[in-house]
Amino acid sequence: MKSISDAKRIVVKVGTSTLTYASGRLNLRRVETLVKVLSDLKNSGRDILLVTSGAIGVGAGKLGLPERPQDIAGKQAAAAVGQCELMYMYDKLFADYGHVIAQVLLTRDGVDDPVRHRNIVNTLSELVRVGAIPVINENDTVATEEIEFGDNDTLSAQVAVLAKADALVLLSDIDGLFDENPQKNPNAHLIPLVTEIDDDLLSIAGGSGSARGTGGMITKLHAADIAFSAGIPMVIMNGADPTKLYDLVDGEAVGTLFCKEETV
Ligand code: GLU
Repeated sequence: MKSISDAKRIVVKVGTSTLTYASGRLNLRRVETLVKVLSDLKNSGRDILLVTSGAIGVGAGKLGLPERPQDIAGKQAAAAVGQCELMYMYDKLFADYGHVIAQVLLTRDGVDDPVRHRNIVNTLSELVRVGAIPVINENDTVATEEIEFGDNDTLSAQVAVLAKADALVLLSDIDGLFDENPQKNPNAHLIPLVTEIDDDLLSIAGGSGSARGTGGMITKLHAADIAFSAGIPMVIMNGADPTKLYDLVDGEAVGTLFCKEETV
């Protein structure tokens, strides 16, 4: 995958189901591996921006709630707790590898408003310039329907555009895009390359992927659509083993690549 191995600036998005166990507690082995790999990729000369989910899930886990809250106040309260925990962990782990992180919390109105849009672009660019790793999430504690991105797949594609990234990688709990639902059909095939997002493709994507996150394949295709329009190649791959990111940047075929032209 030449388009990814050549990428200097990479946005990596990690989903709640990759970061946490079913209890909502952090999967520390995975988070540690992810942070180590991203630190190493940064050491190799790439700019890394991390879009993280998990605020609501981790907050619910930390509060000992039996399940992810459904009401807005419950979600916003859980996010306030979980965002703290996430940043505490990221800060601690990235610091172990000598990297500085920066918390960036966004809402959609900030992207839509021209002045705030410019500020976000400038801030992200400055953070990368000074060598920090921006760790980005939706500002869930204040985001309501009118101003929210709604899911971090969409957010990460917007961030890739705002940060003028060369590639976007979505780490998910699935190996990539399949021609049928692999949970229902064991004969489903992974689609390695998508060069066009059409209605047929949208029809094979279902709704929300798991009880813990808010995304699913459909939100990933929306993200791919945004990335496509900006000419940014995007990959969906399994985040269970973050070291597979090395294979990806080494040019191996991993997951599903969404790319307008075939540059494999
Ligand atoms: N921003 C949400 C959170 O941190 C996640 C949204 C998503 O899973 O797409 O909990």
